[in-house]
Amino acid sequence: MPGDSLNVNINAGGVAKNTFDAIVIGSGISGGWAAKELCEKGLKTLVLERGKDVVHLKDYPTATKNPWDFEHRGEIPINTAKENPILSKCYAYYEGSQHFFVKDKEHPYVQEKPFDWIRGYQVGGKSLLWARATQRWSKYDFEGPGRDGFAVEWPVTYDEMAPWYSHVELFAGISGNKDGLDTMPDGEFLPPWELNCVEKEIQEKINSTYTDRRSIIGRCAHLTKPNQIHLDQGRQQCQARTLCERGCPFGGYFSSNASTLPWAAKTGNLTLRPDSVVHSIIYDEQKGKATGVRVIDAHTKEATEYFAKVIFVNAACLNSNLILLNSTSNRFPNGFGNDNGLLGKFVAFHNYRGTLTASYDGHLDQYYYTRKPTGAMLPNFRNVHKQETDFLRGYMMHYSAGRGRGDASNKEDIGGAFKDAISEAGGWGVFMMMQGETIPKETNHVRLSKDVKDEWGIPQLITSVGYDDNDEKLLKDFLEQGEEMLTKVGCKNIQTNDSKQAPGLDIHEMGGVRMGKDPKTSMLDKWNAFHNCKNVFVTDGAAMVSTSTQNPSLTFMAFTARAANHAVEELKKGNI
Ligand SMILES: Cc1cc2nc3c(=O)[nH]c(=O)nc-3n(C[C@H](O)[C@H](O)[C@H](O)COP(=O)(O)OP(=O)(O)OC[C@H]3O[C@@H](n4cnc5c(N)ncnc54)[C@H](O)[C@@H]3O)c2cc1C
Ligand code: SF4
Repeated sequence: MPGDSLNVNINAGGVAKNTFDAIVIGSGISGGWAAKELCEKGLKTLVLERGKDVVHLKDYPTATKNPWDFEHRGEIPINTAKENPILSKCYAYYEGSQHFFVKDKEHPYVQEKPFDWIRGYQVGGKSLLWARATQRWSKYDFEGPGRDGFAVEWPVTYDEMAPWYSHVELFAGISGNKDGLDTMPDGEFLPPWELNCVEKEIQEKINSTYTDRRSIIGRCAHLTKPNQIHLDQGRQQCQARTLCERGCPFGGYFSSNASTLPWAAKTGNLTLRPDSVVHSIIYDEQKGKATGVRVIDAHTKEATEYFAKVIFVNAACLNSNLILLNSTSNRFPNGFGNDNGLLGKFVAFHNYRGTLTASYDGHLDQYYYTRKPTGAMLPNFRNVHKQETDFLRGYMMHYSAGRGRGDASNKEDIGGAFKDAISEAGGWGVFMMMQGETIPKETNHVRLSKDVKDEWGIPQLITSVGYDDNDEKLLKDFLEQGEEMLTKVGCKNIQTNDSKQAPGLDIHEMGGVRMGKDPKTSMLDKWNAFHNCKNVFVTDGAAMVSTSTQNPSLTFMAFTARAANHAVEELKKGNI
């Protein structure tokens, strides 16, 4: 058993000092929510975070820098990019945000199939870095696997989730328009952003041309008009600077650092331990439940154990899988809760391969360089009510329009003339991308390496996740439909592109510890607790049965809040 090989030090003060009511592994989007809910309900909660501390406002070193304040004017130097071939593919990685990303060499993993694993190891996790697009999943998403006969049936319905979506939306602050679409249900919105003139025109044309598709303004976790609950968190109105991934000095977007963690701390019930790498979960056979976790200090490598009645696993999908696979015991020799051998399997993601670019004539009297955090969206319109195509499920589309730089191709423009040329705004360009659902399959899996370990003595993760024929067909359909739509709305110079990017770069990995009704075919019950160990909850992407076409993080928040409240109820009843 791996835990036995650790030189565990239950240090001064002994077990009592290391005992809490609840332990949360990971302080990112989902861990922050677990901490908030558990602390608010009075549980002494320990949040264990493998990365460094990042204190809101204090630890955003680049947040207010101007482009000329950066040594490389914001660019990643060539040598640094070469050292980080995976990370460099991520659009949000640049000089101003690099300190919040995991560097390739520091945390290696084994790619049995190409997988670009983008991570943020610090207090706040990827909540500092995310693009903040937030939509509810619809009843069609929760009904999908059951209707179409893939994966397993979801053990929850949209109607059961709806109040929890409301719960997290009201606190996080989500801007959006009430569009009345059952493919993308409305939420508790702050005022929407406004589309720019070209986006609006395209939107109107799409909506008047097609009866089966509806273009709407993007929904995102930004405080367009803060309510009292947001001001109480110390957050302010978003200033539309779109420098978010550096950390926002206004708390204008939702992050654990600006929102859930300080809120949890205010209760007096939170203990946050950065630099604490969770190695595995401790299972007590006599008690028939988990009693705590083994932790390795990120710097000294000293091992410690912490104990609690309830454990929330929120290390982000693949790291949650890793910790659970590494949590072996006599009872669970193949990984935590893994009686059915499905742990680490049915990993899925979002198909982001297709993009289109185009130009759009006119509106040259309108200057707009898209300093707003969202563009337009088109909820999925494929196979919504019944199977209609030769592929399963569908995709949503994001699109935006903006003006590029002026034309600097005239070689005679040098010096001042060159500067003038590039200072002029160019014509309007349109960008469209897909967010495709992928079908979870047993073969798409992660497992632990038997050969290589990381610096902390933990086996490295092997990723074996790839595309399939369904993904190819869905991509083809998106590119065809996208081209047709952009043509119909009057775009010119339309280019379609298949980036052929590996899975992972979507940063929406899900599954491996899926929920379900039947312990034979799933790991977790309808409350995100293990079927066979009711005091351990997994509420990040690892728990997802299927991926929907919507962005995932709002759904992780809703599941986490719901599970945390259930855990507290169960504790009160003495059931766990
Ligand atoms: C550039 C970018 C854009 C994105 N855009 C969007 C978007 O628009 N909409 C959307 O819905 N999602 C988006 N995402 C994805 C979103 O960030 C994730 O879905 C979300 O952060 C997942 O939350 P989480 O709590 O599962 O994981 P994280 O937020 O990653 O937090 C996990 C935490 O666990 C810690 N941890 C890991 N292993 C251990 C261990 N062994 N011991 C202790 N701690 C550990 C990590 O250090 C981390 O802090 C984006 C992500 C990125 C990077
Ligand atoms: S766009 Fe809003 S949330 Fe993002 S950095 Fe600017 S003020 Fe902050």
